[in-house]
Amino acid sequence: DRLVGPDADGEDTAVEAALRPKDLAEFVGQERVREQLDLVLRAARARGATADHVLLSGAPGLGKTTLSMIIAAEMGAPIRITSGPAIQHAGDLAAILSSLQEGEVLFLDEIHRMSRPAEEMLYMAMEDFRVDVIVGKGPGATAIPLELPPFTLVGATTRAGLLPPPLRDRFGFTAHMEFYAPAELERVIHRSAGLLDVEIDADGAAEIAGRSRGTPRIANRLLRRVRDYAQVKADGLITREIASQALGVYEVDARGLDRLDRAVLTALLKLFGGGPVGLSTLAVAVGEERETVEEVAEPFLVREGLLARTPRGRIATPAAWAHLGLVPPQHQPG
Ligand code: ADP
Repeated sequence: DRLVGPDADGEDTAVEAALRPKDLAEFVGQERVREQLDLVLRAARARGATADHVLLSGAPGLGKTTLSMIIAAEMGAPIRITSGPAIQHAGDLAAILSSLQEGEVLFLDEIHRMSRPAEEMLYMAMEDFRVDVIVGKGPGATAIPLELPPFTLVGATTRAGLLPPPLRDRFGFTAHMEFYAPAELERVIHRSAGLLDVEIDADGAAEIAGRSRGTPRIANRLLRRVRDYAQVKADGLITREIASQALGVYEVDARGLDRLDRAVLTALLKLFGGGPVGLSTLAVAVGEERETVEEVAEPFLVREGLLARTPRGRIATPAAWAHLGLVPPQHQPG
């Protein structure tokens, strides 16, 4: 497991429950989303109605699960949490939908990975609060209509564009979650440090924030590793110096690149003069699978403006040379 991976690992799952903001006011950053959601929820409360279905799109670790829980809390409603991959048959979905209470929030993570039949059942459930349960098979199969109590679906996906338009259109409100600015991550870190009873100064928080890839989940995870280091190697207080030493031990550099990211960049610069080089060749040079380079390392390198994907292959940007402290080869004029 990568220290800078965006998905939750076992340890995160245990700790995250304690670190989740409980209401909109506590939720750091995402100003626009918070403001819009606040209006949607207030209006629904004022009408005494169930809130509209909400679609949250954004990378893992940016707070989609947290927001769904906040929506339920703000509406004073219970919440049920499931995911697209967990619903393979329409029957699985029917079982969940038919057991919802009135006003309940159903959080469906990775909604783009639901099976087709389940997706079609969801259309009707979202629009008419009704499902047709198919009983029997073949020519003798019959559809039994089932009324559902009004509920709020909160769907989460890494990209709204992955959803078929008919599904996307059934959400009353779509919020796009952005990566967090360093100052926002500093606030997340200070807040978590308070909850975990960790002492940290402003520079220490800034140092961790800068290495957290714009992602609160990663910020919280790095904070825990730095806390361990501060306890064992110092007096417990996290300063810039301590944070930097600790994350050096874990090979997370000043910009949040880890060993794999740096291996890819180093190969691109040192072996291929900055490219262009094909993905497969680059992967062989790093000793990794093609998919690992493409799906694990590259997205962040591209987002950071260190690497570009071009039709002729991967190329390094001037920022990549600067980040690794290397000088690009001089091209002979003419
Ligand atoms: P996602 O569902 O998008 O993968 P989560 O909601 O599980 O992300 O958030 C991951 C972790 O990051 C949780 O511990 C959560 O408390 C923290 N977190 C996410 N967004 C925020 C935020 N805006 N403010 C404070 N903490 C946050």
